[in-house]
Amino acid sequence: MTARLLDLSPAVSRFFLLARLLILMSFGLEIGPSQAGQEIPQSKPHSGTLGHRPTLTAQWKYLGVEGPEHWSMLTPEYRTCEEGRQQSPINITMTHHGHAPETLEFHYQTSELHELNNGHTIQVSHTSGCHVNLNHRRYQLRQFHFHAPSEHHIEGKTFPMEMHLVHQDTQGHVLVIAIMLKIGAEEPVLQNLWTWLPKQIGQEVSIPLSLSIADILPKHTRHFSYSGSLTTPPCTEGIQWIVLEGPILISQKDVDQFVDIIGHNARPIQPLGNRHIDKR
Ligand SMILES: [Zn+2]
Repeated sequence: MTARLLDLSPAVSRFFLLARLLILMSFGLEIGPSQAGQEIPQSKPHSGTLGHRPTLTAQWKYLGVEGPEHWSMLTPEYRTCEEGRQQSPINITMTHHGHAPETLEFHYQTSELHELNNGHTIQVSHTSGCHVNLNHRRYQLRQFHFHAPSEHHIEGKTFPMEMHLVHQDTQGHVLVIAIMLKIGAEEPVLQNLWTWLPKQIGQEVSIPLSLSIADILPKHTRHFSYSGSLTTPPCTEGIQWIVLEGPILISQKDVDQFVDIIGHNARPIQPLGNRHIDKR
């Protein structure tokens, strides 16, 4: 009896391995695009702005053997996370005053919003056209999402949270605008987003009222800019980053609620290397 059980055990373990693989694959298909990084402009299946391409990519996390130190080892597609020399986030320090004239204009409007818990963050998509003009080049807002604590540091200082507004121009260039969140009396827009936070991975919630995305923005658009990468696998470089200097406010309760649902989701600081940070 014992011998027979022992004979079966390799087959049994193969079965469980296969079952686990199938579960991982179906999970990957279900929330596919998120596996390729939150910064990547993504459309929801029914938003129609970008193709929904389910992909089978490696699982990654913010802790443990699938954490940031090991992302590059999970699959060759994530090699840039280790080999890249222009990675994000960074500590914003040793800034230079940018000399070339620059214009940054926000054209955000009131919109219906949908929130998705993709397992790595809460990602918000919208229905109305929102865009920014950077040096008269138009970048469409694709989605925005949150990190806790902040991914970027400013002069060594971290913030409780950071928001990333992901934009893309018609040629595919990606511009991410980062806004720091500090503790205080929060804006109604954030309060509404937090009222409807989807708690389960893969869950999507449509907020039953229109919200003005422009109301989230800080009063001033003074900012830092530099060239970096996605802060999630595959850590693709060539991303234009704008980090607004002025924070917006969020309550401690809402930070705690986010961390309860998502956990801590900030990639560690990456070397600045020979990059310049412009202050505007
Ligand atoms: Zn992000």
